[in-house]
Amino acid sequence: MTSDKIQLDHGSGGRASQELIARAFLPYFDNVFLNELNDSAAVIWNGFRLAFTTDSYVVDPIFFPGGDIGRLAICGTVNDLAMRGADPRYLSAGFILEEGFPLSDLERILQSMAAASREAGVQVVTGDTKVVPRGAADKIFINTSGLGQIPPGIDVAGQNAAPGDLILVSGTVGDHGLTILSRREGLSFETPLQSDAAPLNGLVRSMLEACPGLHVLRDPTRGGLATTLNEIANQSQVGLEIWEEALPIRNEVIAAAEILGLDPLYLANEGKLVAFLPAEQAEKVLAAMRDQPYGREAVAIGRVLAENPGRVVLKTAIGGRRLLDLLTGEPLPRIC
Ligand code: MG
Repeated sequence: MTSDKIQLDHGSGGRASQELIARAFLPYFDNVFLNELNDSAAVIWNGFRLAFTTDSYVVDPIFFPGGDIGRLAICGTVNDLAMRGADPRYLSAGFILEEGFPLSDLERILQSMAAASREAGVQVVTGDTKVVPRGAADKIFINTSGLGQIPPGIDVAGQNAAPGDLILVSGTVGDHGLTILSRREGLSFETPLQSDAAPLNGLVRSMLEACPGLHVLRDPTRGGLATTLNEIANQSQVGLEIWEEALPIRNEVIAAAEILGLDPLYLANEGKLVAFLPAEQAEKVLAAMRDQPYGREAVAIGRVLAENPGRVVLKTAIGGRRLLDLLTGEPLPRIC
């Protein structure tokens, strides 16, 4: 690490985060489940395979078009369970509240968490509340953990991408990141941007019904699609070829990103997934996805190659090729 103090980009989800995890955390907690570095750990207990995950939410602002910190906290944990092919079931919720935080805001957040839990079919079964003095935290931080069961025969993990796989994305990218940033910068656009925050377990269930042998699922949250693709290329030691022309990005997101000097491929999504699966299964799975509310705009965006393991190459619209690297720096702290 270049500094002996924690920097904002250690929380970006990109290169600095990976370095911090590898150098600071993994040596202490070394075990086979953690070392896989997937969205959830897949632990085996009395013959059951359980997915177990945790995530903290510090988004600023706490209310934004398309969602709020509460919806994020439920959906993010549900999605990390679903990305192992698990059926999400039980969640915990821990709250760190700043002295002076309005009770009416807390209630609004709890209502939103209840609605998201109902939509996802999960229950918050345990929780914790701490209050810190004014200034010791900003308004509200939430941590959620989740448990789900992985059905027999399902093996979805970042290590499973194979040459010949097609890569699918469930819809447009960059929406959440740009919504948060525009709010923070006070920018408004003709077509208002909206976060995509959503629980994806229903979408995943229909995908696994169509293709139980699906290889990889991941939600491209912090660090965006480009960072997620790099993680999988590394975990599976394969090369990825991404087709720029196929990437679904809303026109208003492209326009806003240009004004702000940001690349939508590195912006967080909170209701999207990337899937890797054998090419011959792709049509069936895409049809199943497009039947689901959160998969209507699903498309194939690239393929897996044996060459250039660990690398993600973007084939541009004009026929060029450029390397898509991990996120470096932190364009957008407190995005989720
Ligand atoms: Mg995830």
